[in-house]
Amino acid sequence: MHLIVGPPASGKTTRLLEVAHDWLRKRKRVWWVCLPFQKAYVYRQVTKGGAVLGLEVLSSQQLYYRLLAATLAIRPILTGPGRVALVGEALGLVGGAPPSPGEARLFARAIAEAKRNGVGPSGIPGASPEARRLREVYAHYETLKATWGRFDYDDFRQEATRLLESSHPRLEADAVIVDGFRELGVLELRFFQALSRHVPVYLSLREAPPGLTPQEVRSAGSVRLQAHRAPNPVSEARWVLRAIKRDLAQGLSPLEVAVVAPENRIPAWLTLADEYGLPLVDQRAPTAADTPEGRLLLEMLELPDFPTPGRLMALPELAPLGRVALERGLVGLEAVSRLARELGLEGVWTAWMARLRSPGEGGGGRSELEWAEELLDALPEVRNSPRRARLLERAQEAHRIAQGAHFRRWWAALLSESYEPHRPNGGVALLTPTLASGQRWKKLYLTHAVEGAYSAGEMEDYFVPEELRVGLEEALQASGLPRRMLGRDPVLLEELRTRAEEVVVTYPEASQEGPLVPEPALVGPAPSPLPALPPASPLEVAGVQPYQAAWGTVSLPSPTVEDLRRYQECPMRYWAGLFLPEEPPWWQILRRELRRIRGKLLPARLEALSQQFPQARDWMEQHAGLLGSLELGFSLAVDGLEVRLDGVRRQGKEAHIYCFLAPDTSKEEAQRRMRERWSERWMAGHLLEKYKGRIQQAHLWAWPVLGEAWLLDSIERVDKSLRNLHRTVQETHQRYAAGVVEPNPGFICRDCKAKDICREGQAAYAGPGLLRRSR
Ligand code: SF4
Repeated sequence: MHLIVGPPASGKTTRLLEVAHDWLRKRKRVWWVCLPFQKAYVYRQVTKGGAVLGLEVLSSQQLYYRLLAATLAIRPILTGPGRVALVGEALGLVGGAPPSPGEARLFARAIAEAKRNGVGPSGIPGASPEARRLREVYAHYETLKATWGRFDYDDFRQEATRLLESSHPRLEADAVIVDGFRELGVLELRFFQALSRHVPVYLSLREAPPGLTPQEVRSAGSVRLQAHRAPNPVSEARWVLRAIKRDLAQGLSPLEVAVVAPENRIPAWLTLADEYGLPLVDQRAPTAADTPEGRLLLEMLELPDFPTPGRLMALPELAPLGRVALERGLVGLEAVSRLARELGLEGVWTAWMARLRSPGEGGGGRSELEWAEELLDALPEVRNSPRRARLLERAQEAHRIAQGAHFRRWWAALLSESYEPHRPNGGVALLTPTLASGQRWKKLYLTHAVEGAYSAGEMEDYFVPEELRVGLEEALQASGLPRRMLGRDPVLLEELRTRAEEVVVTYPEASQEGPLVPEPALVGPAPSPLPALPPASPLEVAGVQPYQAAWGTVSLPSPTVEDLRRYQECPMRYWAGLFLPEEPPWWQILRRELRRIRGKLLPARLEALSQQFPQARDWMEQHAGLLGSLELGFSLAVDGLEVRLDGVRRQGKEAHIYCFLAPDTSKEEAQRRMRERWSERWMAGHLLEKYKGRIQQAHLWAWPVLGEAWLLDSIERVDKSLRNLHRTVQETHQRYAAGVVEPNPGFICRDCKAKDICREGQAAYAGPGLLRRSR
């Protein structure tokens, strides 16, 4: 193994790029092994001089997988959340009671560390009760995993090492380059040593691991460093954003500049970057809980325990309750239940609470998984999302461990454990210190350089104290858990200071919590005040109002009652929708054809429709009697307003009004849809009022295509709600006729197709934590 050692910025990657190009020039294949987030960087570096052929950048996990796949010695992978769930199951076997997700996570991390260092259950040192419990849980976990026939991430490494040490696998690569790692664990080192017996391996590290002699030792390169102090974090961030804007204006590419910040400050940076119009790109991998669907599901799983206005507003039916709770500053179960009673929303509130409680805690007699599927289908954003299957997988994992309220909490916890595929857009990288490792830029802004902000996070282990751990040399030769406290902080700080040719270090002198102490290893002895920079955001230009488009009026086509309903939800969205044509699903095309009949469905037309929509042939034939009795596509014009109905039927003094819905619509969903719609109820009110005596009852029917028609409501008199509806329609019509198309931001922004062009939707409504990432 060719080992190259040197401090950060000593040119190790540059040297390895030369090595790679040498091999590639000889038409050989090279595997470049690095951390997953470094891949794009390596490809950029290696192709600086033009396209290359024969180089592949892999993560270690992919490398293990390749080796094992070639020999078919592979099993399905046990992913991160699956691993925590299996450890939870093992904990349940040891302790009896279902464990909490936090406890399972703690054990899962300890087991992962042991496996990373090649230590089996019996090798965990210590006689404390917790160390004993860890040994037992670890052993049960391994048995459960073997019974299930899975490999966790560490098994791949172990098996690949075993394969290299015991046989001669055929390798596709002629050389392997390993770069970008701060240090390697015991088993990783053993793996690369074993690999070097089959193929030349070039490895770069900061210092040589015990027992290995480096072939090349490099010395530190030079870095231009400036350090500035800012009065507070906001002025620091604004200055850095101004500086980046200047850099880009002077010709630096966004990919040549980066910002490093502590992880908890990243959301604030992203918010400010919007104001400056800068392409700052968050490089952190999102979890399922950070996606809109996952976040919504998480809110719903947590709502029964702790209802907040944000969570209530995520559900259209509970949004009125959420709005009043927000106005009055109310949170918590008791307060929100009382408020629901006061507002007359007790019915809908109780119905949602029953739906959101899993079986075993008052959610009915179904199994947890049936309940989980129903919940996913009750949320339109999730029901049709490609992420639905992944969210359900987490429920299946949670179901292995817990029931009732425990199941709900486990499901919520596993959502935060599952990472989403992540390909960040190109732009100025916004990084945590870990994500900055192994990469270099032309210019880097290292922010918030105060004491304690950047740390390697070394701490005593909960299970195995430091005195029972061994040095790396011993761990490499025999077996054992290596020491944790190795004083890595100075190494991390040194690395951060060298991540670019020019590093600008900034720190705030104070925050709202009080004065802050600069980190001397980053800031140096004499930081200067922030130099003046020209303004870079419209808000920084004194006296000049930022441009805001005037709300003009437009000319809109004559509306139907249902158009007015959509218009009232958000005039802007309605107007934009006129220019954003959609491909309707087949059943809506069928409905349109049925409406076009504008009269009775004759046999010849039925035959033609059956040919055009073979999937609905049986349904139409089965219901030919009822379909033939309807006045299809009935429409009525009143005072410049048109109401269009799918079908109507008169029977003496009774009118029957039909509305076609999507196939497979449940009765509950049909009731909700019919409550939302205006046309049918408006027509019922109109008939009862205008034809008093001649029409004495109006029946409202919902009819899912391919299903049976349901009678949902029978109306005998024009009550207050119908009068209100008629008044609302009239008022909306007046605004519509005036051509007002102002946005009306709210929860509907979540699935609005016009959001990309609507500043109000993007800026005014950040949603109840649903649209903006907040971690
Ligand atoms: S994003 Fe919101 S406010 Fe804007 S058009 Fe869509 S629904 Fe209306």
